[in-house]
Amino acid sequence: MTGVKELLQEKDHIFLDFDGPVCDVFAELPSLKVADRLKRLVGPDLPAEVAASADPFDVLEYAVSCGPNAAHVVERQLSRLEGEAVSMISPASGAQETIREWAAQGFTVTIVSNNSVDAIRSFLTLHDLAEQVRRISARSSSDPEQLKPNPTLIEAAMRALGASPGQCVMIGDSAADVLAARAAGVASVALAVTPAKRRSLASVNPDALVGALADLRLAG
Ligand SMILES: [Mg+2]
Repeated sequence: MTGVKELLQEKDHIFLDFDGPVCDVFAELPSLKVADRLKRLVGPDLPAEVAASADPFDVLEYAVSCGPNAAHVVERQLSRLEGEAVSMISPASGAQETIREWAAQGFTVTIVSNNSVDAIRSFLTLHDLAEQVRRISARSSSDPEQLKPNPTLIEAAMRALGASPGQCVMIGDSAADVLAARAAGVASVALAVTPAKRRSLASVNPDALVGALADLRLAG
């Protein structure tokens, strides 16, 4: 989209979603498998839609509705499984180069993600990105209020950086990223790698829409 590089150039702080832009978290350890392992912790009387879901976050949400103990147990196990999942995968194509380029150009890069802080940290360290990423603002508890589409993680990142919303941009591949950014008063760039994603992300009106992370490289 025309103008996306200009939008980026006006900013100082890049907030980057993890699952999607940086890597495909459940590429090797499928999300269905992870969801099923979590279901065992809160089963066997699951609501049909939770029992059928392949999304671990649906199970976490259900566990939260069961009470703080269930929520804590499921969140900790999800965190462990995310750690296992990211140990099996590589960064998305172009992600390392793009993050390194942004850092070299003077942007701060913060990962803003519903995935576990620990899993993200170990992935970044393993792939030599820990130095380029200034902060990780990600899931550290079972509190659903913390997670996107709520703006909490973005607001925490801004506070830690001493930044105002106008200095920041959130880049992510889901509607929750765009909605969280909007709720925090931050510009959003949606990353849509398929026509279907493009349609669904366009419907939440991000400030810009791109087809690849490489479209956000300012050099060249
Ligand atoms: Mg994502």
